[in-house]
Amino acid sequence: MGSKQKKKRALCLALIAALVAGMGLGLPASATGAAIDQKKEEQAQVRNRLSGVQLEKQENIGENEQLLEEKDELDGLKTASELTHSELLEKLRYYEAQIESANRAYEDATALCAEQAELFKSRVRSMYMDSSGNALELLLESKDITSFLEKIELYSVISEHDKDVLEDYKLALADVDYKRSMQMAAAEETEARAAEQRQAIDELNLSRAELEARLDSIQGKIDQLDGLEDELQRQSKKLESEIQALVEKAAAEAAAKAAKEAAEKKAREAAAKAAAAEKAAAEKAAAEKAAASGAGGGGSGSASGSSASGGSAMRWPLPGYFTLSSTFGTRTHPVTKTVKKHTGIDIPAPTGTSIAAAKGGTVIISGVQGGYGNTVVISHGDGLTTLYGHCSKLLVKSGQTVQQGAVIAKVGSTGVSTGPHLHFEVRKNGSPVQPLDYVKAG
Ligand SMILES: [Zn+2]
Repeated sequence: MGSKQKKKRALCLALIAALVAGMGLGLPASATGAAIDQKKEEQAQVRNRLSGVQLEKQENIGENEQLLEEKDELDGLKTASELTHSELLEKLRYYEAQIESANRAYEDATALCAEQAELFKSRVRSMYMDSSGNALELLLESKDITSFLEKIELYSVISEHDKDVLEDYKLALADVDYKRSMQMAAAEETEARAAEQRQAIDELNLSRAELEARLDSIQGKIDQLDGLEDELQRQSKKLESEIQALVEKAAAEAAAKAAKEAAEKKAREAAAKAAAAEKAAAEKAAAEKAAASGAGGGGSGSASGSSASGGSAMRWPLPGYFTLSSTFGTRTHPVTKTVKKHTGIDIPAPTGTSIAAAKGGTVIISGVQGGYGNTVVISHGDGLTTLYGHCSKLLVKSGQTVQQGAVIAKVGSTGVSTGPHLHFEVRKNGSPVQPLDYVKAG
């Protein structure tokens, strides 16, 4: 039932781990720890806002992309419309030219016709000079060539040839007029279609302008979110370095505290050791004085009944080794892992270290005792016994009388043990009692 140096190291590592874990879990006791918690809280808020901003930015970028696609589509439509529009305008110019030439042809035809009519009129006048003047006057007064021709037909006074000539002119005139009006209708239609296209282009331009305005506004928003994101990133980084600095500060504080405690413990141990040495010196002086004045003592190996009667105090059984790896009382067994009452104290020491009798008395057991391994039990009288377990060597025999301080065995790790140590027990009427009530380290 024991342990070894390794256990102490493991314990120390566990303590460090617990300290580190405590800092990590945000369970620090110090003001620095509270500051770390606060900064971490701030950090969490900043990161939360940051992810909100990034999400919003992402949404805006998505919308921006969609609008850009729409813009591309509108641009495509606009290009198509403009093409159609320019084609229509070209057509329009063609028709307008046609109309112009038709107009010219019409004017030429009209002029020719009028000239012809003039010639015809003078001939008619000379031909029918002496006839009934009234009708002729009426005829000659006709304003336009068409009504003149109609009237002249009624009078049947002109030659067939003249009639044909005039009829040809009439037909030519009508034809030119018809062609001109056709061209004009086509031009009108083309003009209407061009206007429609122009309107469509205007509308597309308007939509495009609106889209561009929306794009501008979204880009502005993205820029703004970019700025906000940068600012939050900067804040987050700053908080991170602040937390880092605080964590380092907390570690330094913990290290300083541990160093201070270690120094204090060392001072306490040194003081205890000095006191014990003083006490031992005093006892030795007293014993020498008693020996000088009293009866002569027995040999070291042989009985000296007086010490077995148990009046004097016990002495530490392992001189030079004062650290305990396990104390008396309830503990978790290092090998079996079960919770048990530990019946003694464990004092680690290298194998072969001499074990001294805590007090003079009679050896009642010297041999293997189950889990205790090689064991010595000494009876000191008055129902008081001491036990020394896990020994590597036993140097006394059952029934032998030993004096206080006599080397009775060597430290080992026999029985149920995880490393070389002395398992030391004090029993009163067979029941284990707190050994530290009887022996003091040092
Ligand atoms: Zn033990």
